[in-house]
Amino acid sequence: MSDAFPNPIAATPAGEPCIRCDDVSVTFFKGRQSVSAIEGLSLEVARGEFLALLGPSGCGKSTLLRVVSGLVQPSAGSVEVLGTTAALARRRRDIGFVFQDAALLPWRTALENVALPLEVSHEAPKQQLQRAEEMLDFMGLGARRHAYPHELSGGMRQRVSIARALVSDPKILLMDEPFAALDEITRDRLNEELRRIWKKTGVTILFVTHGIYEAAYLGQRVLMLAANPGRVKEILRVDLPEDRTLRIRENSEFIALSARLRRLMEEAS
Ligand code: ADP
Ligand code: MG
Repeated sequence: MSDAFPNPIAATPAGEPCIRCDDVSVTFFKGRQSVSAIEGLSLEVARGEFLALLGPSGCGKSTLLRVVSGLVQPSAGSVEVLGTTAALARRRRDIGFVFQDAALLPWRTALENVALPLEVSHEAPKQQLQRAEEMLDFMGLGARRHAYPHELSGGMRQRVSIARALVSDPKILLMDEPFAALDEITRDRLNEELRRIWKKTGVTILFVTHGIYEAAYLGQRVLMLAANPGRVKEILRVDLPEDRTLRIRENSEFIALSARLRRLMEEAS
């Protein structure tokens, strides 16, 4: 079976690097105690790549996203994002976020939530609303633009959250277990939708999950992290057709990849 995935460590796709982590370590201090959240992590992500980050809880997945967005400074090593520092890339609005909790403002409609990031821009309010409307349409929620978050299902709220992340046209989309709280059918739909969005926008996606099938379905590569300390366990290229529906989960290559990820996940825990 391992023949199907030759030399996975070397499986960096060709293309301009968009994110580069070089020997990054992150240590947190709690009083006198220190926690090594990430140790010696090196990684290159190509522009336009879809990378799934998989690993047991506590292995540093969220910390890695925070490093890439400049919210956490590495204790050692260096990070380059779009040819500059992570913090500058974030300030330039080159990075969008989606979290497990949609984190919408309850007193604002879907449309007003999506328009929120544009309010700091110099665009005229009318243009801002138009752009937000286009984004909501793109996410299939045009008809619900005037609904408040509590009037929307969990899946719809996550769509709004994705629309809000994309409205300022970021080059990188960081997603931290965005569908973990949704039921399986909704998650499946959003997984398919996310591949569509990725293809249409060309945005580079880092998608954190602890779901093996989700990682295998979504990613062009899967970065498996191990815990204590958080480190790269393996990087696997996903050799599945680019045009994927969820039916691909019945494909024997998908099943083999999932079995392999499961074994790695067990080893990593
Ligand atoms: P994951 O997202 O994979 O579950 P995290 O990145 O959240 O893992 O955390 C990795 C490790 O770092 C865990 O042991 C966690 O307790 C610790 N950690 C994360 N953030 C902080 C923080 N701000 N202060 C102290 N420890 C932290
Ligand atoms: Mg996390």
